[in-house]
Parts: sequence; structure tokens; C-alpha cells
Amino acid sequence: MQRLSVLFPAPLDCFDYLSESPLPCGTFVCAPFGRKTQLGVVWNKTPDNAFPVDKLKTVTPLSMPILPQQTLDFVNWVASYTVSPLGAVLKMVLCADIQKQSKKPLAFLPPMPDFSKIAFSEAQKNAVQKLSENLNGFHVSLLDGVTGSGKTEVYFELLAHLFRTQAQALVLLPEITLTSAWLHRFERRFGVLPAVWHSSLTVKQRRDTWQSVFTGKAQIVVGARSALFLPFQNLKLIVVDEEHDSSYKQEDGVLYQARDMAVVRGKIADAPVILASATPSIETVANVREKKYAHIVLPERFAGAVMPDILLADMRQKTKGAVRFISPLLETHLRQNLAAGNQSLLFLNRRGYAPLILCRACGERLKCPHCSAWLIEHKQKKKLLCHHCGYERKMPPLCPKCGAENMFVSCGPGVERIAEETQLLFPTARTALITSDTLTNMKEFEAVLEKMALHELDILIGTQILAKGHHFADLTLVGIIDADMGLSGGDLRAGERTFQLLQQVMGRAGREQKKGTAIIQTFSPDNLIIQALQKNDRTLFLTEEMKARQLLQMPPFGRLASFIVSSKHQARAYQTARQIALTAPKISDLEVLGPVAAPLSLLRNKYRFRLLVKAPKNCRLQSILRQWKESLQVPASVDVRLDIDPYSFF
Ligand code: ADP
Ligand code: ZN
Repeated sequence: MQRLSVLFPAPLDCFDYLSESPLPCGTFVCAPFGRKTQLGVVWNKTPDNAFPVDKLKTVTPLSMPILPQQTLDFVNWVASYTVSPLGAVLKMVLCADIQKQSKKPLAFLPPMPDFSKIAFSEAQKNAVQKLSENLNGFHVSLLDGVTGSGKTEVYFELLAHLFRTQAQALVLLPEITLTSAWLHRFERRFGVLPAVWHSSLTVKQRRDTWQSVFTGKAQIVVGARSALFLPFQNLKLIVVDEEHDSSYKQEDGVLYQARDMAVVRGKIADAPVILASATPSIETVANVREKKYAHIVLPERFAGAVMPDILLADMRQKTKGAVRFISPLLETHLRQNLAAGNQSLLFLNRRGYAPLILCRACGERLKCPHCSAWLIEHKQKKKLLCHHCGYERKMPPLCPKCGAENMFVSCGPGVERIAEETQLLFPTARTALITSDTLTNMKEFEAVLEKMALHELDILIGTQILAKGHHFADLTLVGIIDADMGLSGGDLRAGERTFQLLQQVMGRAGREQKKGTAIIQTFSPDNLIIQALQKNDRTLFLTEEMKARQLLQMPPFGRLASFIVSSKHQARAYQTARQIALTAPKISDLEVLGPVAAPLSLLRNKYRFRLLVKAPKNCRLQSILRQWKESLQVPASVDVRLDIDPYSFF
């Protein structure tokens, strides 16, 4: 009998088992666990040996191919980096019904023989050339070019190289850009469709795709961040498109940053990684400046399309009168653009009608009973919603505090309100509103985009769902309703995110022959980020932002981790948070800030406290944090989460 380690797809570490014959690491087994038998994997970890051998149970190997060594290495790496239980990461790998064989395996046809006939510009040729020189072995490149410069065409060309071999490639996209538009484009180029992986696949689709990646049949996989955990057999290229996108940070379960983990996955596979963006993240720019990543630039828009003119609408000069959210400047441009037969886009990253309901009689603000957050008015749904927990209610007839009747006033705009104002100003214009509330599925979303593409709409109004990926030839005017909204708050990346998002949205204007205009409405026209946006000067933004981060030793110049402590019992949550602070390892340069009540101090009836751990860049933070966390005495009613490289600070 052999002793071996078995890992289950559950938030636990390995367990010792016995096997009648030696089993290679990665073998799928059935193992008795508690009263059931469970699917597990023989893990590449020395057995514990502490447990008496006569108490060990025996596993039965399954007649299935084994998990590739690289997948095991990747799971080990991610668990160690994110300070998570190994099995929680394995669970992300085994997230399909893998035991049941696909009856009808997916057919992946070879691409059409003449698929890659594209006339590249000099800059594009150069980019393809440089990237193809580094197709063998691990190597990270930033493919940096404004929206419309042909980044997608360029990495498609590398996929074309790959198609000619037996190798596999992974293209990661933010979930929202993973639309049929992207797939159609792929199909037009190659004559076939790639394997697709995202959160809304059916059980059967998941199983089929998982197995075709596992058997190596699927050559090109396009997916959202979780596609990183697919069991590739022969991965030879990873592309992370829109690498700066904050949705690459997974915010529940195992907290990981998919862009960073893609680089690790590439390293394990000894394969190149291409990070593509028009507005690269500060982390990536720092790596380029330190010469860790190659920098490949596409300097201009394809076929001479030029960047839009950018105007600021200073909202401080607003005259007194009825509340209006579309400035006279924007109104004038909208009117001209309509008259010229062009299309416009109005952007506001706030769902609903109004972010706050106030009682004019007593000043009461309507709050969520389960969260420390205001209720958001949604007129179309005729409801007030909490955007954090989903609580909803009808508008109360009387103020719950003072009993006044009909004294509620809606404060501030959400996209629904902008749509209403647009209709009042331009009653004959054909308008549509796109938000995740009004569109319940991808089909409806694509139907609206299709109408826009066919120029059956004049003005499209929406949230960040509109920010990227779409390409409309007649769209020549973009209006940013509130450029300041992302700038406030203590979030480390608030400025960076605002800059990236607004650059992307403005990049929607004038993508073809017609020159575009973007109008930024702001109350702080002197703000550095607004200035950099107006001048279309990324270097100005990057230089200032990096200077500030360096001064404060914030990422990427220093390291951060946060503890988030939550419980239904406020006192217990606070005591645990205090315990974390008091047991902080005494290591010089390790700074512990907090505990403080989280900005969202009550979420789904749980009280929340946060601590921030700051360390120098070269610090071995993970092993310190793991020991620290394991030494804590945490009551069962309290949850302690550790977020390495946190992106959200609420
Ligand atoms: P990005 O990914 O940088 O936003 P795209 O690759 O989407 O840019 O290119 C923008 C548009 O220009 C697309 O419609 C694309 O098909 C077209 N395009 C870019 N390069 C070429 C080329 N060399 N030949 C033909 N069309 C091109
Ligand atoms: Zn709530």
C-alpha cells in the first residue's frame, strides 16, 4: 500500500490516503470522505504521515486522463499567492461536470486555409513581427495602442500562427466585451469559432468546453477570467485584452487578479503573454519602465481615423433655474450632431433614476435596512433598490421619519434621468437606454447594439456596459455627464479607473472617417485627471499618478493586503479586528492601518471592519500573512477574509 496526498475541490488542504498501486500526481480518484465518496485528485505534495496508517482509507483511481502537471503547479501557486486553501483553487479548475463524458464532443474545425490575408500598416507589421519573434518561451509584452489602432487584428495574426501548429491559446476578455460581435469577427477572420468560456454557459456547454480543452481538441479558447483555470494540455500563448480592466479582479471566493495570474500561468507554461490595452494599468506601465515587459506601440488609429476633439463643460457656471444635467454646451452639440445625421452617446456610470431620495420636510434620506447605503430610485421598475444587497421596496407614501406627505425629492442623476431629459430636449430623436437593469439578457443587449450599428438610433444612453468594444461608424459625439463621480473616495485606484474608463468611452467617438467630439461635464476642470483627459495626455496622467504612488509607497511600488472582518455581531467583529491588529507580527517596515469601520460598514446585515497591511515591495508578505491568519482565534460567527493586492476598498 502506498500513502499519498489527495486534494478535494473544497476549501480544505490535502488529506492522506492509501492506494494499492502507485498513482501519478494528477490522477482523478474516488475517495471516501465522511459518509460519502468524493472526487479528488492525487496531489503533488508529500503526505503528512502524522495520521496513523491503519486509520487511513483507500482511494479508487478513475479511468480518466490525468490533470496536467502545469495545472497542479498553477493551483499551488495561486493558493499560495492568495493565501487561500488549496482545495478552493482546485474547485475553480474542476468547475464542470467532468466525469460525465460528452456524448457529442464539440467539433473544432481547422481554420480556412486562406484565412490570414490582411494588409497591415507599417506599425502593425512591426508589432506582429516583434511579437512573433517571442513566440517561443515565456515573455510578457504590452501591446499598447489607442482604441481602433488594430490591437485585435495584431493578436489575431499571432493566433493565426498558432493555428498552424497543434498548440493551444487562451484569449481573456472582460466578461462584458465577450459578445457575439467579437466572436463574429473571429469567425470572419478564421472561418471557425473558438471555444468559449464564461459564467453563463449551460451545464452541458461547460462540460463540453472543459473536456475539449482537456483533450487538447479546442485550440483557441476565449473566455472571462475563470478560463485561466481550464486544464490546458499544450498552452503556447495567452492574450489578456483590456488588461487594465478592473473586472479582472475576482471579488468573491478566491480573490485573485486574473491579469497577474495570467502572467504566472504563462510562466508555468513557458509561453508568451500579451497584455493589450489603450489605457494600460499603472502596474503594467511600471513593469514596462523597469524593462520587465516589452513595449509594443501602435501609435495611431487605423486608416487615419483621428482622436476626437475634447471639450470641457464647466458645470460650476450653471445658471440658476430648474435642475438640468445636460449642459448648454452638450445640448448644442447634440442638436448639431442630430441635424448632421450623426449618432451620439451619453455616458453616466450610475444605474437608476436618482442616487438619493430626500425628504424636504425633515432632511431624512431613505436608506437600505440591511446596508449602510442609500436607496437608489429606479423609475422604470417603480422601485427603490439597494445596489449592494438587492433589497427593494416601493416608494413610501409618507416620510418614515416625520410623516410628511409628498415631500420626497429625487437628488442627482442616474442614466434613467438622463434618458428622460434627452427625450424632453429632443422629442423626435430615436433614443435607447442601456444598463444592466433594462436589459435582462445578452440578446436584448445585442439587439440594441445592432440597431445602433444600423443607425436606427440617434442617441444611445448608458452605463459602463457601453464603454468598450463597440464600433459604430456614425457615432461622432460622446457626452460624459459626470466626470467627477469616480474621482472622490479614498480608493487607491479611483483616479486611474476614472482616467481609463473615460478615455475608453471617449474613444467611441469618430472611429472611422468622420471626426468625433467628446464633451466632459465636470465641476472640477482643474483636476489633474480631467486636464490629462482633455489634453489626451496619458503621459501627464501616468507621470503624476506614479509620482504620488511612489511617494506613498503604494502599489506597484509597495505591497498591500487587507483583512475584511464581518459578522452579524458588531462587537465580535470589532474584537476580532482588534485581535488582528494586536497580533500583528513585529516586523519593521510592515505597517498595519486600522481596524476601522469599512466605508460600507453594514452590508447584508453584517458589520464590517477593515485593516490595511502595507509592506515594501520585496517583503515576503504571503508567508507572514498566512501565519498571522492561522494564529487567530476567530469565533464561528465571524468571517475573516484576506485580500492580497486589494482593488476594492469599500
Ligand atoms: P483595437 O483592438 O486596437 O481597438 P481593432 O483591431 O479593433 O483595434 O481595429 C479597429 C478597426 O480597424 C477594426 O474594424 C479592424 O477590423 C480595422 N483594422 C485594423 N487594422 C486593419 C488592417 N490592417 N486592415 C483592415 N482593417 C483593419
Ligand atoms: Zn442593502
